[in-house]
Amino acid sequence: MTTGYVYNELFTKHNMPRHPESAERLTAIMDYLTRHDILSRLKPVPSRPATQDELIRCHHIRYIQLVEETCRNGGGMLDADTYTNAFSYDAALYAAGGLVDLTAAVVKGELDNGFALVRPPGHHAVPIRAMGFCLFGTVAIAARAARLDMGLERVAIVDFDVHHGNGTQDILYENPDILFVSSHQYPYYPGTGAINEIGAGSAIGATINLPLSAMTGNEDFKRLYSEVVFPVVRRFNPELILVSAGFDAHWDDPLASLGLSLEGYTWLSQSLIDLAAELCEGRIVFTLEGGYNLDVLAPGVGNTFRALLGDSYVDDPVGPAPRQEPDISTLLAELKKIHQIGEA
Ligand SMILES: [Zn+2]
Repeated sequence: MTTGYVYNELFTKHNMPRHPESAERLTAIMDYLTRHDILSRLKPVPSRPATQDELIRCHHIRYIQLVEETCRNGGGMLDADTYTNAFSYDAALYAAGGLVDLTAAVVKGELDNGFALVRPPGHHAVPIRAMGFCLFGTVAIAARAARLDMGLERVAIVDFDVHHGNGTQDILYENPDILFVSSHQYPYYPGTGAINEIGAGSAIGATINLPLSAMTGNEDFKRLYSEVVFPVVRRFNPELILVSAGFDAHWDDPLASLGLSLEGYTWLSQSLIDLAAELCEGRIVFTLEGGYNLDVLAPGVGNTFRALLGDSYVDDPVGPAPRQEPDISTLLAELKKIHQIGEA
C-alpha cells in the first residue's frame, strides 16, 4: 500500500501555552511515527493554503476576513475556547489545503489512502464563526472540493471524535451528495447532534447522529457501527470516505467520558478501511480532529497508519476501559427506525 500524510511545521506554530489543543499533540505524533519506523514508510504530500474559492464554499467571506485580520494583528480569542496567534490563519488554511491535496492524490490513484496530521482541528467551525478550537471546516472543505473539483458524485464523512461535528453538519446540512455520520458523547459540548437531526430539504437522511451516553465503549461501538453506520454508508455507496479522526472518545481522555480503548479505536479504523475497500476501491482519508491524552493520541494515530499500511499490529500501552459499558439496545432500535435500517 502507498499511504500518504500531510504535515507542516506551521501546524505547530498555532499554539497557546497550557491549552489542551496544543502543538505538543502533533510533535508527540511525529515522534511516535519516527520512533516506530512508520514515518519512513509513508509518502509526504506537501500542504498549501486553501484557496478563497475553496473556503467560501463553506464559510462566509466576512468571517474569513475576520480570522485573517485577527491573526495579522497578532491573534486573540475568537470564542471562549478558541485562540489564535499570528500563525493561526495560515495554519488553518494550510491544514485545509493539505487535506484537499491529499484527498486529490487518493482520488487520482497516486496514493492508496492517507492521514492528514493537521492543526488546528476543523469540525466545530460553522459557516460564520469559530468554535471549539476550530477555525475552518477542514473536512467539509475537502468533501466539497472532492465533489466540485475532483468529479466525485458521492462522498461520505465519518466523524468519531467524542464531540459532535456540528460545524461539518451545519455546512453540509442541505447537501444530499455528502453523507455525514457522527458518533459522539451526548449531551455534551457543543450540545448539538441529537438523534433527530437528520439533514434538511433534499438532504433529509444524509445526516446521521449517534448520540452516546458516557462510558459507551468498544463492544457498544462495534454494534453501533456494524448495525447502523456501515449499513447507511453502504446504502449511500460513496466514492470516497473521509474520516474526522478524534482520539478523545478514549476512556482516558481528560476532556470527555466515552469508553473506547486503543484496541477499540483500531477496530473502528480498520473497519472503515475495509468498508472503503468494499465500496470505493479503498479510497479513504483520515484527518486529525481532537484527542488530548498524548499517551493515547500518538499510538492511536500510529495504529491508524499501521492499518492503512496493511499491518495488523495494535499498540495499546494504556489498556482497556476500567468501566462497564451501558446498554445501548434502545438507542440502536431508535436509530434503525429513524434511518429505516432493516434487520440483517
Ligand atoms: Zn473532540
